[in-house]
Amino acid sequence: MARTQFDRIADHLSIKACDRDRLLYPKRSLTISCPIHLDDGTTAVFQGYRVQHHLTMGPTKGGTRFAPDVEIGEVAALAVWMSWKCALAGLPYGGAKGGIAVDPRRLSRRELEALSRRYMQEMIPFTGPHIDVMAPDMGTDEQVMSWFMDTYSMHHGHTVNEIVTGKPVAAGGTEGRREATGLGVSYLIKRALDRLKIETQGLTAIVQGFGNVGSVTADELHQAGIKVIGVSDRDACYLDPRGFSVPDLLNHVAKHGSLAGYSTESEFHPKELLAQPCDILVPAAVDRVIDGPIAERIQCRILAEAANGPTTPDADLVLEARPEIFVLPDILCNSGGVIVSYFEWVQGLQRLFWKRDEVVQRLYGLLDNAFERVVTMAERDKVSHRTAAMAIGVARVAEAKASRGLFP
Ligand code: NAD
Repeated sequence: MARTQFDRIADHLSIKACDRDRLLYPKRSLTISCPIHLDDGTTAVFQGYRVQHHLTMGPTKGGTRFAPDVEIGEVAALAVWMSWKCALAGLPYGGAKGGIAVDPRRLSRRELEALSRRYMQEMIPFTGPHIDVMAPDMGTDEQVMSWFMDTYSMHHGHTVNEIVTGKPVAAGGTEGRREATGLGVSYLIKRALDRLKIETQGLTAIVQGFGNVGSVTADELHQAGIKVIGVSDRDACYLDPRGFSVPDLLNHVAKHGSLAGYSTESEFHPKELLAQPCDILVPAAVDRVIDGPIAERIQCRILAEAANGPTTPDADLVLEARPEIFVLPDILCNSGGVIVSYFEWVQGLQRLFWKRDEVVQRLYGLLDNAFERVVTMAERDKVSHRTAAMAIGVARVAEAKASRGLFP
């Protein structure tokens, strides 16, 4: 998907064939094995990955995913998307991504800590605050980032809190990072509604995935007076046209760890959720959930891609022929996370910390800028929002590479 999209953008930008590989191929791709002791006394080995896409604009930056199906191709695609995302937002980073093929829910807390520390230990020769800065992604959280930071710091003999972002505030994190992606998603949805001159009151939303990004987005939409009529996670899926109380859903998840058991009345088939009528559809879970046939059937006004890569290239072609759907492409829609990660890194390097209001206002400023540029270019060049967003990102990286030249 990342390659197909890149080829389309490179055609659109008329990038010469001989310059394309330099833009697309990752600079470094690393596979490691992470052995740990399990609680039952045996040893298990988990495969870990890190891909650093390009080093042209500064250090690389990207999340670390703990999920059973993580593999190097997926990590590389996510790293490439991160590059375009950072460039679109104007951040001084190349993209990176990493992960471990593991279901973190099957590990005890001690095993999870051992695996997190071992992963960072193996990465030490390839990471650093000016080389590669990690962040949370699916299956990792503030606690895992704290263990990463502690492991790196122990190795260096002093605290290096700018080595990761998404840490707890007490360990050098920034105010607003945990909720940044969801805040950004809901802010951009409101920007899109303004643009379309649609009032928020009485609108409906469906949110797939109720983890960090999905739950914050649902909560923000609920607070804005939008009815959340559909929610799902790995274990449960619910639909109720009367709308859910998002605070109740959040309490349930805080208590039970997932949406399972929240309701028996409104259970719904997960495969059909995305095709239900709503004003705002938010895939906030995994990639490739909207393929060609689903894209034909979705019935929303705004498609807010909170997850990375939720829409396949086939689906894109369908959506391009459905101009009634306003797409907020992933590299714009979920960029709040990396933007506030950037703020966290800057604050860590300076040892000067900002208040939450300052973080959020700066976040909205960068999102406004990116949103306007995407929408303006899409209208001017008569291309989709995704093409415009990626073209802005790719063009910026291409320009930086061209001006730096090729060493030696
Ligand atoms: P998370 O682990 O906190 O939550 C993931 C949620 O998705 C969970 O509720 C899980 O049960 C659910 N889920 C998993 N598979 C599902 C499926 N097949 N159907 C329905 N629900 C499913 O992860 P997150 O941090 O919220 O990330 C979600 C997405 O957002 C990912 O694609 C991630 O790459 C992207 N993203 C996250 C951030 C961030 O700051 N956390 C930033 C940018 C993009």
